[in-house]
Amino acid sequence: MKLNTDLLKLSDTDFAAIINKKVSDYQYANPDTVIVRLDNEDAYLPFPNCVHSAMQAALEESLNDPQLRCTPPLRGYPFLIDTIIAHYAEKNIQLFDTEIFINDGAKCDVSGLTELFDGDNTVMITEPFDSVYYHSSISSGKAVRFVRAHEKNGLIPRPPKNERADIIYLCSPCNPTGALYPTEVLKEWVDHALENNSLIIYDASYEDFACMEPNHKSIYSIEGAKKCTVQVCSLSKAAGFANLRLGYTVIPNNIVIDSTRLNQLWLQRERLKFNGVSYVTQKGAQAAFSKEGKEEIEMHVKHYLSNTRLLTEVLVKAGLCDQSFVASPNVWFKCPQNMSSWECFDYILKNTGVVTIPGSIFGSAGEGHMKLTGYTTRENASVAARRLWQLLGSSSETGAVN
Ligand code: PLP
Repeated sequence: MKLNTDLLKLSDTDFAAIINKKVSDYQYANPDTVIVRLDNEDAYLPFPNCVHSAMQAALEESLNDPQLRCTPPLRGYPFLIDTIIAHYAEKNIQLFDTEIFINDGAKCDVSGLTELFDGDNTVMITEPFDSVYYHSSISSGKAVRFVRAHEKNGLIPRPPKNERADIIYLCSPCNPTGALYPTEVLKEWVDHALENNSLIIYDASYEDFACMEPNHKSIYSIEGAKKCTVQVCSLSKAAGFANLRLGYTVIPNNIVIDSTRLNQLWLQRERLKFNGVSYVTQKGAQAAFSKEGKEEIEMHVKHYLSNTRLLTEVLVKAGLCDQSFVASPNVWFKCPQNMSSWECFDYILKNTGVVTIPGSIFGSAGEGHMKLTGYTTRENASVAARRLWQLLGSSSETGAVN
């Protein structure tokens, strides 16, 4: 018997476990310090009240209706698909029901989509990156090349000249850098994909945060995007569905490769590997798209962004970050005094009791950088901002972003 050696290429380091061990050792040695965790990747506010009520009602309904206790429709219940179509229609974007697939979170589709393509295909990933893009590409045998985000390009890489890949991963607002790609840069990527016969897998998991930007537009408002872009969305972040598990993927009818409609091929793959999302969860998601749901989500977004802004201001003042605006719960900054990411993690924890995330876990372009998130209470964010300023403000001259 032979194992799939592509899977053996994946790193088996559990970074969360390493961080948790360091935090518990620190707490043991410093029992009086109140630790502030800015390494949360999941939203901590509960899902909106209307989601709660809709799910309770759906649960009652399914007690009395045997149909609702059966396996759900593979692509999603029509009521949720129609709700998503209406949501896009408000932005003047026309979607069709054959283009939408309800999933149990963005991660499964962001990675599963690579299975539609032969191992000979090449993949382009912007770095630093969410490890799922890289791991799913190499575990399906594909060669990966990186396009780097760094301070000089404002953390927003442009498409490379004279280089192409079959599949391009983009994420905006980006995890981990927090960068929001302006529409003109997204247009460059769409044009690049069309010219080079590439497919963009666009991870819009953080889109709720970008919606606060007055000029923000969906990628599908860009001419040609529906010919080359698959968009994956998640309700895990601002809507608080990280535990409920729900997202959706848009695969436009216009994407046809070798006479095969990509969404037909995805449906085949889903028949093999997916069982759908529960009625109760989909009813909750429908409520999240209601007027009341959107208002509550907007309140969550404002809460997280005000935390992120507070923390960003301190890092900008310390010369470690030059983010001019905030459209994401993620904050990306440079380590002071040329420290490595893990040295900086230890330095910040030891001197402030604040837990951050080493940037190096997002690929080699992340080395020398750190990430933190605004998924916390206002009080915690204020405490962390004060402690970080006390530590990093003094090192601002040596740590200035260059
Ligand atoms: N995409 C990005 C960029 C993420 O950061 C995450 C989760 O943190 C996901 C996708 C996965 O989202 P989901 O919870 O919907 O699977």
